Amino acid sequence: MSDQYVKVQVEQMKSFGEDAEKEGVDTEEQVPGSSPSASVSPDHPTGTDASSTSLPCKQTGKSRSKPGREDKRHTSDVASQGSVVSSEKNLNRLGYERTLQVKGTGKILQRKSEPNGNYVTIHTSKNIEEMRREEGFKLAKKRRPVTVDTSKAKTSLEALKISIKQLKWKEFPLGRRTACDIYWHGVSFHDNENIVSGQVNKFPGMIEMLRKINLSRAVRTMQELFPEEYDFYPRSWILPEEYQQFTTQIHMVKEKDATVNPTFIVKPDGGSQGDGIYLIRDPSDLKLMTGSQAKQGVVQEYIQKPLLIDKLKFDIRLYVLIKSLEPLEIYIAKEGLTRFCTELYQEPSQKNLSHVFMHLTNYSLNVHSGNFVHSDSQSTGSKRTLSSVLYRLAAKGVDIKRVWSDIIALVIKTVIAVVPELRVYYQADIPPGKPGPTCFQILGFDILLMKNLKPVLLEVNSNPSMRIEHEQEVAPGVFEYVPSPVDEEVKVGVIRDTLRLMDPGHKKPTVPQQRAGGFEQGEEIPMEEETQEKSQDETGTLPSLCLKQVYPKYSKQFNYLRLVERIAALFIRFLGVKGNMRLGPTAFRTFIRTCKLSGSNFTMASVDILYIDITRRWSGATPDSREAGMGLQAFVEAFFYLAVRRFKSLALREQVVSLLELCESQLGPQSGVEERRSLSCSRALPRTVKTQTPCLANPQLSSPAPLRRAASQDYRHQRFKPRSLRANVEN
Ligand code: ADP
Repeated sequence: MSDQYVKVQVEQMKSFGEDAEKEGVDTEEQVPGSSPSASVSPDHPTGTDASSTSLPCKQTGKSRSKPGREDKRHTSDVASQGSVVSSEKNLNRLGYERTLQVKGTGKILQRKSEPNGNYVTIHTSKNIEEMRREEGFKLAKKRRPVTVDTSKAKTSLEALKISIKQLKWKEFPLGRRTACDIYWHGVSFHDNENIVSGQVNKFPGMIEMLRKINLSRAVRTMQELFPEEYDFYPRSWILPEEYQQFTTQIHMVKEKDATVNPTFIVKPDGGSQGDGIYLIRDPSDLKLMTGSQAKQGVVQEYIQKPLLIDKLKFDIRLYVLIKSLEPLEIYIAKEGLTRFCTELYQEPSQKNLSHVFMHLTNYSLNVHSGNFVHSDSQSTGSKRTLSSVLYRLAAKGVDIKRVWSDIIALVIKTVIAVVPELRVYYQADIPPGKPGPTCFQILGFDILLMKNLKPVLLEVNSNPSMRIEHEQEVAPGVFEYVPSPVDEEVKVGVIRDTLRLMDPGHKKPTVPQQRAGGFEQGEEIPMEEETQEKSQDETGTLPSLCLKQVYPKYSKQFNYLRLVERIAALFIRFLGVKGNMRLGPTAFRTFIRTCKLSGSNFTMASVDILYIDITRRWSGATPDSREAGMGLQAFVEAFFYLAVRRFKSLALREQVVSLLELCESQLGPQSGVEERRSLSCSRALPRTVKTQTPCLANPQLSSPAPLRRAASQDYRHQRFKPRSLRANVEN
């Protein structure tokens, strides 16, 4: 048959049967001594489409964990979670078939390879479309299931098991000798050591970055550059180093206006679940020491007028997925939780300061109150879904679209604040060119709504609880873990959809071209896209994704904020040694020289003084001060100083942009971060620059941030000796 009449197609039939069978022997592959995994009931969610409503991610599967045999067969649902995984080795191992299509007829001749290398024709009757459909179906049936190591999942295990079961993926509850596609860690990136491939659900350094002190510092740096954009974080002072500033400021405020009586909340640095938190009205009530050691923590402006529901204070727990750091990809769960206090709220007074059930919304505290109501529906009790609360507010006429849009903006801005340092951790643990896993992470944002509906960031949790059961006293003195429908509703959806997004076989959803980058600065972000994010479950057995991409979708609106990331890119470039997180004096000199920042009025001797002084001061301020050298935060301070010094007449933000552009132009094309090009000067300078962050509740209080910058400006006296210079800086 000539080419004119016959089109020869080589169909490489990627048979995954062999692999699938291999995967079936999972119990043998587990760590010796392992027992078969506990599995969960096969109940599937009924597929309520979250996208059909404004917010909630309905996941109606109420499956509970029951011990049983792992289902070893994988049906068509498995493959349809994403694109077909291709495996080169399978192509060659298994015989492939050739199909001959008779042009114009749709008929095909098909031949199959024999072991002796010949082909035999096996049928001629089907048309190519039918064949493709069938083969697609076969592939779907045989696609190797995604493997998940759950051995370190800890309290997430229950929700994770349900999610894996719903996805028909393969769980390895006791680990696996060979690599898994996904490693689910309960605490940190390092829960399993020596992972060289796959994906881990934690970023290196996230725990450290989100501790209260570090988060406050990161946000404060952004407040220095963008005071208005970062006014969602309460004024905070770092203890013990800013104790003096704190007391001085409070006394000044009170002296000015005796009627002002602000309240502050004191939080230990590494604390969680309300541990060690207390309210004060007078700086002298601060407990600064534990034994002979100074307590590390933050003291923060207390939001006195929160929004109340049923006269109770509540906060929002929002789940946020960082899918990737570079490029930055952020998803927000459309459904979250709200946690209610259990004592009617009153504005703080000396009398009620110690009433934790009135002022702290932590579940872990309020569950011990006699008034705690375990929720059996989503809209009542002490823990409710976010959507139920928003609907209730909407019914009262609240513009919940605005609230939701503000919440999304708060999340994106906060992530932008912590990303620079995360990048430093990331390159230290997973240096480019070294084999390693990629990372993603679910974070828990705690957000308070003020009475005026402004969202306020309280903290970000690197390990939000994913428990879906709670302890209950079933008889006097007898406690049992019982299912918590509200937790299950929300958390299983978040974990399952995170897995769906991280599916190694899943084709990246592309943001439609015309929408990429999203809305202009200041525009309200809609609650739902007009074009709904499509369910990635082609079989239709799973609900639409409850995670909504917000970045890069709205990057256009927020890119200009990514200035510190560009400073971090410079910092990383000069770190030199792989795995390093701190800049030595020589590397700092190299940075100054390469970027041509020294000259007759800023000598290399002054550069050394700058380095020594800033590094010395920061080494006392950071918990991991054992390491010598200049960390990112110290480098940022040095950079700000250099910017202020060089571009005197401008405002700080413009000064920093100008210095960045200068450095990047000296360094050539690879120096910036991915969005550098879109960070035009004009976008970076859209507003009047204020020198002080507006205070949420007490406008009289000024931020300690500009003090830090003012201090660093004293480096202008670069000819001073280090000692006297240091004294200047500390004042
Ligand atoms: P933890 O990690 O110990 O839970 P948080 O920072 O979340 O610490 O604070 C615990 C609780 O205290 C919050 O859930 C919230 O109810 C309350 N809270 C924290 N910060 C403030 C604040 N600045 N203003 C008002 N309430 C706050």
